[in-house]
Amino acid sequence: MDTHDYGVEVPPKSRMDLTKDAHAVHRLVGYKGDKPFPIVDFFEFVLPLLYDDFDSEIVSTSDLGDKFGETYPDRHLIRLREEVYDGAVDGDPFSRMTIAHEVGHLLEHEGVPRALARNAASKSIPAYKSSEWQANAFAGALLMPASKILDLTPDEVSESFQVTKTAARTQCAAIAKGEKWCRALRL
Ligand SMILES: [Zn+2]
Repeated sequence: MDTHDYGVEVPPKSRMDLTKDAHAVHRLVGYKGDKPFPIVDFFEFVLPLLYDDFDSEIVSTSDLGDKFGETYPDRHLIRLREEVYDGAVDGDPFSRMTIAHEVGHLLEHEGVPRALARNAASKSIPAYKSSEWQANAFAGALLMPASKILDLTPDEVSESFQVTKTAARTQCAAIAKGEKWCRALRL
C-alpha cells in the first residue's frame, strides 16, 4: 500500500461500484468465497491473461522506499516489495491485502491523467474520489466477499479469509452499512 492515505483524485466510485467490480473478478476466476481468495495465483496467472503487457517486478525493500507496493495502471505494472510477495505466498494477511490493494489500482485507475495525479494529493478529496480509499475498498471486497461475511464476526472473517483483524473490522463495519445491497449480491 502507498504511504499516502488519500492518494490522488480519481473519477468517483462508490463502495457498491467497487464491490461489484470485485465480484466480477470472483466470477471471472470461479471463486465461490469458500476459502481465502487466491490473490497470489491471481497476480501471477490471471493478470497476464487480462493484460497482454502485464508487468510485475518484485523488488528489494530499498527500491520502494517506505512503500510496500506501487502500481502504474497505464503501464499495467505492479511493483511489490520482495517481503510482501513472499509473505503473500505464505498467507500473511497484511501482504495479501497489499497485493489486493495494488490490483485495485491496476483495475480501477487506468487513464487517470498524470497532471491531475500530481496536483490532487490532498486531504480535501472526498473518500469516493480518493485513489487510496478506492483501492482499499476494492481490496476489502476482493478478499472478503460481501455476501459471505455479513453474518460473521470480524475475528471469523479474519480467520476464514486470511486478512488482518483491522481489515476485517473495517470491512464488516462498511458492509453492515450496505447490508441491503450486499445481500442482493451473489458470488
Ligand atoms: Zn495505493
